[in-house]
Amino acid sequence: SFLILKRSATLGLRIQRAMSSVNIPPPECMLRPLEVPYRYLFGPGPSNVPPRILAAGARPIIGHLHTEMYEIMNDIKRGIQYAFQTNNHMTLAMSGSGHTAMECAVFNTVEPGESVLVSINGVWGERVAEIAERMGAKVHTMVKSPGGYFTTEEIEKALAKHKPVLFFLTHGESSAGLAHPVDNVGDLCLRHNCLFLVDSVASLGASPLLMDQQKIDILYTGSQKALNAPPGTAPISFNERACHKMFNRKIKPVSYLLDMTHLSNYWGNDSKSAREYHHTGPVSGFFALRESLAILAEKGLENSWRQHREVAEYLWKGIEDLGLKLFIKDKDLRLPSVTTIAIPDGYDWKELLAYMMKHHQVEMTGGLGPSIGMVIRVGLMGYNCSKFNADKALTALADALKHCPKRRG
Ligand code: PMP
Repeated sequence: SFLILKRSATLGLRIQRAMSSVNIPPPECMLRPLEVPYRYLFGPGPSNVPPRILAAGARPIIGHLHTEMYEIMNDIKRGIQYAFQTNNHMTLAMSGSGHTAMECAVFNTVEPGESVLVSINGVWGERVAEIAERMGAKVHTMVKSPGGYFTTEEIEKALAKHKPVLFFLTHGESSAGLAHPVDNVGDLCLRHNCLFLVDSVASLGASPLLMDQQKIDILYTGSQKALNAPPGTAPISFNERACHKMFNRKIKPVSYLLDMTHLSNYWGNDSKSAREYHHTGPVSGFFALRESLAILAEKGLENSWRQHREVAEYLWKGIEDLGLKLFIKDKDLRLPSVTTIAIPDGYDWKELLAYMMKHHQVEMTGGLGPSIGMVIRVGLMGYNCSKFNADKALTALADALKHCPKRRG
């Protein structure tokens, strides 16, 4: 027994010595419970997630390659086809935020040295131009200040001049609050043998968009806006023309993770009978996305569009009644999901935002990219889109205008 005692003492010493090699102690913060405040997310996203979607995301994890997961992914595909109004077979959700879809679209359909035309009337065109530039495309831009939009004549002229393989347009320019007209642009792109790529991250489900009818070749969105799922997944769809271009490349796309050859197999969209491991998809994120698409399907797209328009009009009137000016003058060009208010004279917009957050737990945001210092943005999307919440936002705004100091000159 003495021997056993001696041996265990030596073992203890060894463990102690091994433990002493841990010279960074557990951080204090990690020994405290997670704290997350309740916020009214009335900015341009993410928006509040309804309990039903939160609950879907909290379901037990299953394997990303289990047959039940494939069923869920198939459901997601059908849900996206409905939300996008497309019959495209090549429809899936990216494992990542809206930017992942932007990069996926550009990386797969463009090869280095090819010409790309990007319309910029806010921050999103700027981002896509940079993404295309980084992968070696020849980038041409058409630029307007925030709130501006492009006529079909302007687009056609630029298409004829630059002969791009891809033309990018933001449908819902969330940095400016503009819903860009999309009609006829698809036809123009078709005529100029160019793919039409549209960003609907901030507009899907809130403002009418019909992928097939409007001849959009590639469309993507995000999970965290009007769909009300947590951030981190991004629906995307490619039509036949886009598939033809991206699957007949001379060289592989720059990103392995975003390579559609692999992603199309992961989503069961290619001709192979088996799905192979490519990456581990965000299982909980996909559960939540499925639930958000189910809610949209139950509600109906037209009802969702109508609801966003009605609540937005109510909000716009309330804003004008407070003596404020809307940044987008033409009602038909206003994005119903994200309203932009011109910063009222004499006020510091940062103070207004901080006041609303501190006293009302209401998040609104300032501008982004070129619209910084021009606007305050109010987003009422999906679950948040109600007259009740519009009143809440207006009360917070009125209170901030009353209590924040106004400076002259
Ligand atoms: N496009 C638009 C129009 C957006 O509003 C956003 C998000 N604000 C994005 C793209 C980027 O999405 P994410 O932040 O999810 O990457």
